[in-house]
Amino acid sequence: MNNLTQPSNRIAIVGRPNVGKSTLFNRLLGRKRALVHNQPGVTRDRMVEAVEWIVGGLTYRVELVDTGGVGGENFTQEINQQVDLALEGSQAVLFVTDSREGPTDADREVLQKLRKAHILDNQLVIGIANKCDTEKHEAALSEFYSLSLDYWLPVSAEHARGIEDLKDLLVREAGLTAEQGPSDVPIPIRDWHQIAIVGRPNVGKSTF
Ligand code: GDP
Repeated sequence: MNNLTQPSNRIAIVGRPNVGKSTLFNRLLGRKRALVHNQPGVTRDRMVEAVEWIVGGLTYRVELVDTGGVGGENFTQEINQQVDLALEGSQAVLFVTDSREGPTDADREVLQKLRKAHILDNQLVIGIANKCDTEKHEAALSEFYSLSLDYWLPVSAEHARGIEDLKDLLVREAGLTAEQGPSDVPIPIRDWHQIAIVGRPNVGKSTF
């Protein structure tokens, strides 16, 4: 599967060090490939791996790009690497954060640099509030909305929480291309429900 060449199904994983990018990469890959560090600031080479996902009865060949952590002393060098990576045809960017720490200055700094480099202009950007190991950790999710990304999902890469929701969202919103086969019958991913947001003026409905 390593010779997969569907650049349109490329997904890049970015974020400051130690938020769980490698763990998420391995989880989405379904096997161990990236090194997981428990020390922040360890720089790694970029890692690209191909994987097949089955979502809604269809097969998607996806190329996952894990990046070394950005931030800290090596910021300039690493951020350049990130720019290259994300521009290389990624259809979606997973911006990973640590839900236990809330949005940090380092998170904001990484986002700001990526935005300045126009790296997030044309891609779907999904914020991942990682380390939501239990439901109670999900309470922190709303703190991240101020970072103004397209979506935020609570995930635990380590305990495989929220991973299927993430794949569903990627397939639905990033427009991933499914493998074509004579017996492929598209099956709706989910029965989507509509939810109305109501409230008096100026209480933050739009932000929400
Ligand atoms: P990276 O530097 O962003 O690639 O982070 P790593 O994947 O190397 O993970 C950093 C640390 O966070 C490691 O000790 C992981 O075991 C831990 N970690 C990653 N994902 C989770 C998670 O979902 N929950 C918890 N509790 N810890 C996690």
